[in-house]
Amino acid sequence: MNRPRVHVTRPIAEEAQSRLRAEAEVTTGPSDQESTRRELLELVRPCEGLLVVGHPKVDGELMDAAPRLRMIANFGVGVDHIDVAAATKRGIWVSNTAGSLTETTAELAWALILAATRRVTEGDRLVRAGRWKGFGPFFFLGTELPGKTLGIVGAGRIGQSVARRAAAFGMRSVYWSRRPKKEFEASTGAGHRDLDALLKESDIVVLTVSLTAETRHLMGARQLGLMKPTAFLVNIARGPVVDEAALARALLDRTIAGAGLDVYEKEPEVHPDLLRCENAVLVPHIGSATVETRRRMSLLAVENCLAGVQGRMPALVLNPETQRGLNRE
Ligand code: NAP
Repeated sequence: MNRPRVHVTRPIAEEAQSRLRAEAEVTTGPSDQESTRRELLELVRPCEGLLVVGHPKVDGELMDAAPRLRMIANFGVGVDHIDVAAATKRGIWVSNTAGSLTETTAELAWALILAATRRVTEGDRLVRAGRWKGFGPFFFLGTELPGKTLGIVGAGRIGQSVARRAAAFGMRSVYWSRRPKKEFEASTGAGHRDLDALLKESDIVVLTVSLTAETRHLMGARQLGLMKPTAFLVNIARGPVVDEAALARALLDRTIAGAGLDVYEKEPEVHPDLLRCENAVLVPHIGSATVETRRRMSLLAVENCLAGVQGRMPALVLNPETQRGLNRE
């Protein structure tokens, strides 16, 4: 039997790459940047499998450029860069690495919460610039967490994991999801709210929704205007869930107290007004970036990809209704 061909858009953990090479002919994109669209269209052409690392646009045009494509394995949970409906129509399975990065990304949400409320990165900048004049009773005051309310926007895997840690900081939780989640409520004491009520009530708002047509700019000027002037916004979901210009305005005008951001509307660009906000903690999309998690993600993505190109439905398939090979060569 011919070995399937797989293109991996960026190198992943060597252990996973060699597992893939043992069963497939593998090409790999560059390590330091994404291939251009034109290069990717060419690289994917002979392939049965595509392992997507990063966020290149994987749409119907790209799928049509690869008539033998049967499997798109995403390295990550969010698939807003992949047109899953177009894949289903073409008989192509799409998978993700759900569950492999939940705790890691929740930890980063807490790193951002603590850094923003205690002004950690602002303090670091001050010390390095030689502007620190010594201890003062009113110097560099932050905000404490005990007794405060955490608002989770999207109680999926990561949102629930963020909420589970709230009790350790003496916080209570409220959440917004499309439907109440009784088990989650019972295990954390979190209360279900509609989005406006959550924004008015919360001291820390954490965005953990997937990016979809419905959640794009979920946090615009109106929603930011509902937040308390003492509240903080943390985004570890996807940049376009927030209207970045409106957020920068709210931070500069201090209509909210601060923000912690891992994701941006046009990565790797960051809105220039956000760069001017001393009260924003900005990190470069590192939610899942630990050695342990990236290894797990690599191995899972490879297992999904191999299953798909070998004709077995991957465990983490997102479109199980796909009729394999429909309209394919
Ligand atoms: P998940 O378990 O599938 O949770 C997705 C959440 O998004 C759920 O709460 C879901 O709402 C909500 N949602 C989905 N579609 C929606 C819609 N149309 N309208 C309103 N809400 C909607 O996924 P997860 O593993 O927690 O990951 C969540 C997201 O985090 C991913 O999609 C990804 O974009 C992002 N992420 C970022 C990083 C990073 O590096 N910063 C790392 C991992 C993941 P319901 O609760 O109502 O079902």
